[in-house]
Amino acid sequence: MSHVTKHIFVTGGVVSSLGKGLTSAALALLLERRGYRVRLQKMDPYLNVDPGTMSPYQHGEVYVTDDGAEADLDLGHYERFTGIPCTRASNFTTGRIYSNVISRERQGGYLGKTVQVIPHVTDEIKAAIRALDSEDVDVVITEVGGTAGDIESLPFLEAIRQYRQEIGRENGMFIHITLVPYIKAAGEMKTKPSQQSVGILRTIGIIPDILICRCERPLTPEHRDKLALFCNVDRELVIGEPDVQNSIYEVPLDLARQDVDVYILEKLQLHVNNLDLRQWKAMVRTLITPRNGEVEIAVVGKYISLRDSYKSIYEALTHGGIANNCTVKVRMVESELIQDDGPAAHLSGVAGILVPGGFGDRGIEGMIRTVQYARTQRIPFFGICLGMQCAVIEFSRSVCKRAGANSTEFDKNTPHPVIDLMEEQKAVRDMGGTMRLGAYPCRIEDGTLALKAYGKARIRERHRHRYEFNNAYRAQLEAKGLRIAGICPEGDLVEMVELPGHPWFLGCQFHPEFQSTPLAAHPLFRSFVGAALKKRKS
Ligand code: GLN
Repeated sequence: MSHVTKHIFVTGGVVSSLGKGLTSAALALLLERRGYRVRLQKMDPYLNVDPGTMSPYQHGEVYVTDDGAEADLDLGHYERFTGIPCTRASNFTTGRIYSNVISRERQGGYLGKTVQVIPHVTDEIKAAIRALDSEDVDVVITEVGGTAGDIESLPFLEAIRQYRQEIGRENGMFIHITLVPYIKAAGEMKTKPSQQSVGILRTIGIIPDILICRCERPLTPEHRDKLALFCNVDRELVIGEPDVQNSIYEVPLDLARQDVDVYILEKLQLHVNNLDLRQWKAMVRTLITPRNGEVEIAVVGKYISLRDSYKSIYEALTHGGIANNCTVKVRMVESELIQDDGPAAHLSGVAGILVPGGFGDRGIEGMIRTVQYARTQRIPFFGICLGMQCAVIEFSRSVCKRAGANSTEFDKNTPHPVIDLMEEQKAVRDMGGTMRLGAYPCRIEDGTLALKAYGKARIRERHRHRYEFNNAYRAQLEAKGLRIAGICPEGDLVEMVELPGHPWFLGCQFHPEFQSTPLAAHPLFRSFVGAALKKRKS
């Protein structure tokens, strides 16, 4: 019999932010640990072609894939929970779908026809789903962003309805993730919003096979009965997903206890192989009860007030903690506060300092003062992308005595443009998808912290930036003791800098946080948290 790729469609009900991405990733992990080859995909019903042009405050972090897509942060969950690499095919927005349809129309691809939402837009969505079908893929999980009932998500819901109809019931299924709120005044959990949300889906022809109920407290048998009856879902397929106690990495364990994956496989007529979660469980145990206690690390950024802005950074720090058998407590510091109050007021007592990525000049001087504090107080320092650029600026100003040194992103007329636009960026006019994006090779130099951490000299790391270390200043900075630790052979670009003699000081132009997972912490995060532990002990 020829290979059939099965499809799971995940929708959301009642409110957004229920952790659909996390739940989809957790389900993918369970299927993977039962021996299936899974792919994940997110459909986002907004008109931006990708989230790359949005402020982190709008959308949270922009995740970057190996092949250079600027994507939804749910892809980060997908990659962290599973061994599944995401690509451009893992995230589609309404904007991207429409822009494909419209450019095809201009090319004459629909000559003679009136181009319409149905069938042309829905066909384009179905093609995006079908693109993941392959001999090497057993199950595709497609998550539809937004909430059932949104005007924007209608074409996506119609497309997945058609898709399941076309492939047949044994090859596709619907999972609806919904909220069962606890109403304090009544002292009760309420199923009505979920009933209504399933009602909305029913009017467009989708009947969920599984209902996953996000709730503050466990579902009682009575709630289950009610939801099953009024939502037309088998009783054992009403699953409770209460808020986890300690960590998001407990979600798969919680779902496995309720055999969700078993029901999925049965519905899709796939063999129920053994589930092997030993490694995952051991990881969660270390995470919850680490041997080496806690270490406090400051993240000094410019989008601190929204936790999602630095999602992958916080996760990678947690992974670094797991690898060192300790908990990383993050002290989140808005860099503008360092400008106002000085670094000591906000950073004293921390065992490590991380300056993450960012765009635009707000808060930059605070980051530069942060670097100076870490450098002179000998506190382990990790600068990522903008964080590395700030480290180079600080070193130029303080150690090389280049007053006014800066990035031309922040000061067009700086006398010392130590960070500058790359040649190929100078002609760029369109802002969307035109940065240096995706994975590039890097060669690590001998005798560096980086080489020790990675244990190999050839690496590939993901990028998202326009500005670059200015090679015209390389010799000067090296002469004063800045170590160039990593080079991209394509274009001779500086990718990593270090400060020999400092306990741990490293800046990288790429984003290592995108390649860190709880089972395999990124080497730089592992090494950085290790250095912070050492600092704490001293
Ligand atoms: N704004 C800087 C640049 O474009 C840094 C980008 C980042 O930190 N991701 O080069």
